[in-house]
Amino acid sequence: MDGSGSEPTAVDEWVLRYGGFDPASEGLREALCTLGNGYFATRGAAPESIADEIHYPGTYIAGLYNRRVTQIAERTVENESIVNAPNWLALSFRIDDGGWFDIGDVEVLDYSQELNLRQAIVTRSLRMHDAAGRVTRLDQRRFVSMSDPHAAGLETQLCAENWSGCLTVRSGIDGRISNSGVARYSQFDENHLVDVNTRTINEDIALTAHTSQSAACIAEVARTGVIRNGSPIRPPRRVIEEPGFIAHEISIDVEALETITIEKIVTLFTSRDRSISDPLAEASSWSGRRSTFTVLLDDHIREWDDLWNRFSLEFEGDGSETRLALHLHIFHLLQTTSRNTIDLDVGVPARGLHGEAYRGHIFWDELFIFPYLNLHLPELVRSLLLYRYRRLPEARWAAHNAGYCGAMYPWQSGSNGREEAQVVHLNPLSGRWLSDASHLQRHINVAIAYNVWQYYQVTGDMEFMTNYGAEMILEISRFWASIARYDPALDRYEIAGVMGPDEYHDGYVGAATPGLVNNAYTNVMAVWVLCRGLELVDLLPEPRRSELLARLSLDGRELAHWDAVSRKMRVVFHEDGVISQFEGYEGLMELNWDVYQDRYGDISRLDRILENEGDTPNAYKASKQADVLMLFYLLSADALSSIFGRLGYVFEPAAIPRSIDYYLKRTSHGSALSRVVHSWVLARSDRERSWEFFEDALRSDLDDTQGGTTREGIHLGAMAGTVDVLQRCYLGIETRDDVIRFNPLLPVEVRSLSLDIRYRQRLMNVAVADGQFTVTLSDSGEGTVRVGLNDEVVELAPGDRRQLTL
Ligand code: BGC
Repeated sequence: MDGSGSEPTAVDEWVLRYGGFDPASEGLREALCTLGNGYFATRGAAPESIADEIHYPGTYIAGLYNRRVTQIAERTVENESIVNAPNWLALSFRIDDGGWFDIGDVEVLDYSQELNLRQAIVTRSLRMHDAAGRVTRLDQRRFVSMSDPHAAGLETQLCAENWSGCLTVRSGIDGRISNSGVARYSQFDENHLVDVNTRTINEDIALTAHTSQSAACIAEVARTGVIRNGSPIRPPRRVIEEPGFIAHEISIDVEALETITIEKIVTLFTSRDRSISDPLAEASSWSGRRSTFTVLLDDHIREWDDLWNRFSLEFEGDGSETRLALHLHIFHLLQTTSRNTIDLDVGVPARGLHGEAYRGHIFWDELFIFPYLNLHLPELVRSLLLYRYRRLPEARWAAHNAGYCGAMYPWQSGSNGREEAQVVHLNPLSGRWLSDASHLQRHINVAIAYNVWQYYQVTGDMEFMTNYGAEMILEISRFWASIARYDPALDRYEIAGVMGPDEYHDGYVGAATPGLVNNAYTNVMAVWVLCRGLELVDLLPEPRRSELLARLSLDGRELAHWDAVSRKMRVVFHEDGVISQFEGYEGLMELNWDVYQDRYGDISRLDRILENEGDTPNAYKASKQADVLMLFYLLSADALSSIFGRLGYVFEPAAIPRSIDYYLKRTSHGSALSRVVHSWVLARSDRERSWEFFEDALRSDLDDTQGGTTREGIHLGAMAGTVDVLQRCYLGIETRDDVIRFNPLLPVEVRSLSLDIRYRQRLMNVAVADGQFTVTLSDSGEGTVRVGLNDEVVELAPGDRRQLTL
């Protein structure tokens, strides 16, 4: 990578640089150069661009969804999508009476674009030669403020290198947009904005738009200033208003070699914001109070400094590229969800606020994100869990409606927590619309309970547990106990009609209805949830315990039923002791992987390939992603042995590597999450392989290895998950029974590692260097912390340090 072409280069561990303009990879670059602050985010599209085959400007506001109805494949389909908000970046220029700047119309002499992760700034520099022989240099910087969640800025400098004349700059807000970022969705109605109105308010231009169904109002106000020789000037400007669009057109007489600076500062509010009057009044008054671009930018950088302190990760290994990728992953996580998200009623969309794939929905991917965040910004996780708590009534309704008890959370969640999973999807290979059964992934209810429990283990936040967390875990336990059916012949409980994480298998070939029986991951984790439910009943302090049990009408008989289910759940094993992914898996056909590999090259979407051939992955022992292996990802060998013991199954520890080996050979990694899980589960038995998976997962968005999907949004579960492999997996961090345990085992590629974590409101530094593991409890704070090192539990007092030779 020499940095001169389209490939990104790591300038250092904080700067991603693109050395040329490459239309084919612009979409990917836009996603990776997205800037956001946990309240809203804007893709790294060129300010002069509009949505076309190359560019896709997009701005997404956390939690702002809208529904549209389309007749498709003989069905009436209602989809809820995160809304693409009016484009505040819009800015272009022209010289004299030439055309508006279009990179396709000029000869590009120099081009570079940089994403600075430390400061969260995107810069773009471009020297161009136009048809009239003029050479112009353009330098742009932009940010989406981390310190003021309603502000963003774009600075543009134009230098007339060999000409003088009239420079006209058009700085606007463009509401003539729809959600058109995902080609597969193009047959759906994706026009979400109505009543787009424009006006001027004092010095500013303003645009308001409403979402067609959810009736939210978005208001954006832009102020554009011009600077010459370091001082503001007031050249003539006129207002351009077209339906859905407003701009200031500013004309400046420029001398040769002169540089003109244009500062655009934008303020964005919506009717969903709190402590506001109406969004336009708010945006307009805050716009009037704002300082200069530079002052806003300095505040933004300071806030990021603070965030990077919290999330610092010092890693010495195989070069700066790994560090850059790790920083990139933490960066995009914090841009999607940060301190500004606390108090918003939102979860973490699987594809960030970076694109429109999966319509901004929230999946089980939070299972790969929250455990990482818990150890750095637990107050954020608390807020994100409350998103689920507020949707508990909807989940109760869903369970009831499906004939179950308790709460059944949706596989895909959006505004109000109803099921948002698609009912039909397009196979782009065959052009066929297919029924989609992914909502049967009831294991989402494991992920939510697991995240509540993990948060509690790390923070000890009994206030949260008693008021919110316990109710979710108890209601989810209730759901698992009610979906499990007793088979007297087997004397076992079974769960039918579900899908596991592996989305290639949604049913049995020839069956009238979709769904599988006894998915091992679902069944074992349902038992884990039931055990937590039972444990909680003892753990809750009085009088909350009695209050909650009474309110939920949870009595001894029901708890006894949970206990019975948790002791007699069925798990299917292959003859050699390998855990079967589901009932009947062992009898499926083997896929000839080599044939498909040779025929298609990239077989990550084997489901689409097989369907296009008139076949189905349901017929084969072939998985899209880790399914059984999720058990080893979430549970330690001890915890798993204890569950199998409770169930009365003989489970030898040797069955773990055998199961890993078995499924590894049969997995295509069609989900970015899969490599994270494989890296994790191999960490103890095959460090080399584990590191390979870790590196692959690290590159998956950077190199867009998921077959061109990153341009539609990053894969946040994999991003957070990779950092967590370093953090919890390689350091062997486990939080249970009021102890934080460390059992480090690092791949040889990791020479040293140091990070600060927060546990039970205390700050700790954890470091590995020169064969020594060191844990230091900060001297701020009172009382001791119980730390487990090599099976020994010690009490650390403030300022204490313990070392372990590895
Ligand atoms: C994966 C799911 C994941 C979803 C959203 C799918 O491709 O199979 O496990 O939740 O993407 O990231």
